[in-house]
Amino acid sequence: MTAKLLKNYIAGEFVSGCREFRNISPVSGKTIGHVSEADQQLVDQAVSAAKKALKGPWGNMSVQQRAELLYKVADGIEARFDEFVAAEMADTGKSLQQASTIDIPRGAANFRVFADMVKTASSECFHTDTADGKGALNYSLPRPLGVVAVIAPWNLPLLLLTWKLAPALAAGNCIVAKPSEETPSTATLLAEVMHDVGIPPGVFNLVHGYGPNSAGEFLTGHQQIDAITFTGESRTGSAIMRSAAEHVKPLSFELGGKNAAIIFDDADLDEAVAGTARSVFTNGGQVCLCTERVYVHRAIFDTFVKRLKAEAERLKISWPTDPDTDMGPLISNEHKNKVLSYYRLAREEGATFVTGGDVPRFDDERDQGAWVEPTIITGLPESSRCIKEEIFGPICHITPFDTEEQAISLANDSRYGLAAAIWTRDISRGHRVAKEMDAGMVWVNTWYLRDLRTPFGGVKMSGIGREGGQHSLNFYAEPSNICIKL
Ligand code: NAD
Repeated sequence: MTAKLLKNYIAGEFVSGCREFRNISPVSGKTIGHVSEADQQLVDQAVSAAKKALKGPWGNMSVQQRAELLYKVADGIEARFDEFVAAEMADTGKSLQQASTIDIPRGAANFRVFADMVKTASSECFHTDTADGKGALNYSLPRPLGVVAVIAPWNLPLLLLTWKLAPALAAGNCIVAKPSEETPSTATLLAEVMHDVGIPPGVFNLVHGYGPNSAGEFLTGHQQIDAITFTGESRTGSAIMRSAAEHVKPLSFELGGKNAAIIFDDADLDEAVAGTARSVFTNGGQVCLCTERVYVHRAIFDTFVKRLKAEAERLKISWPTDPDTDMGPLISNEHKNKVLSYYRLAREEGATFVTGGDVPRFDDERDQGAWVEPTIITGLPESSRCIKEEIFGPICHITPFDTEEQAISLANDSRYGLAAAIWTRDISRGHRVAKEMDAGMVWVNTWYLRDLRTPFGGVKMSGIGREGGQHSLNFYAEPSNICIKL
């Protein structure tokens, strides 16, 4: 990464804001660049540009023309694939393997999927009887919401930003997006791609900055935006809801989780151990879908714990650029301190550390970075904060259970309800237990197997609404009913 200044992108131009903040490498804690922060005035300009663009060429484009532009965005990401991968790795410290097989390919795929969907979307049509016998025809047309504020987190920066952007654009909206202050780079590259492929000025605007008293809050509290779509912490979701309440905006929220996995004694143990290791440690546990609570049938508890420990200790924790690296650092030293505070709390509460619990030592610049060890703990009561609160790090607690009912009740005993994983060879039990999970997404004998057409979202404090496939298009466009008297 060069140490260039990352700018805001407004009305088709890259512009500087009020001040600059540092972009810090989580690998070493060193500054790798600077980012221009948008103040209220710049956010106002971005929102005005988006409003104006709704009435410009974008608003008059056919669905086919819009879709063609979105295919070009996907092509543009792929044409600069290596740059995107390098930028994502520099900002997050995630491994080359993950950035090049998940984050960036999915970033491009999101544009293709929603361009395809919007081209083939159908609408409702009803024939209505009338007293004169001639009848009436009712049909609905989707209309974009207008200016959509897109607020994204740092864990899967391009993937989650485009997960919202692509359907919002496909539906004909104009956007003001704010990436996380921790991960500004791929969003800025995306603005360059949008510019180069000819997305009309003002259709996509990017503002950089923090949340409170910065670009995030200026944007979500803005009277002129028409909707907010947000992925991030549940607490931030409440703050955004409060600021949006004054002007009554539609909201789509994808929030935190404290996801459970249930391992029955009839599970294929090889698959269950490998799948659970993946679900706990992928991206250093920094995926909203990651498992932090594991419930294992007592008959296989000791074996499972021993085998998961072996998987955790086999992970290669190394430079993101090393093709064999399984796990990089956490996103920042601040987040590392948060995760380590839970490791400390677990120790104080008397947990048994099966493995991990500390920071790895490298004797090089990485010792100033945000690295922590993959960690497995047991022995805490279910009331422990370590079992109740989202840690968002490479850690899980494992609890034994005796009956199916008990496993269901333990898994559901959470304020969150995003995802769950069930491991069993008994497919009837798989269906039965899946149906009982208080979670928006349940995997049976797998984890994080995604079909982008399926509903994605959480219950309880894990979110409001569903995105994915038609669910996204339903949020980003509202149907207008037209009734014709025949
Ligand atoms: P965060 O809530 O701290 O920040 C997310 C975004 O919101 C950032 O861009 C931030 O600048 C902005 N923001 C913060 N305060 C704001 C405010 N008051 N007003 C407007 N914007 C504000 O989340 P994070 O730490 O970046 O991401 C991790 C969290 O995201 C975890 O809780 C994780 O579970 C959740 N997450 C959920 C999903 C999902 O699909 N459910 C996916 C990924 C991450």
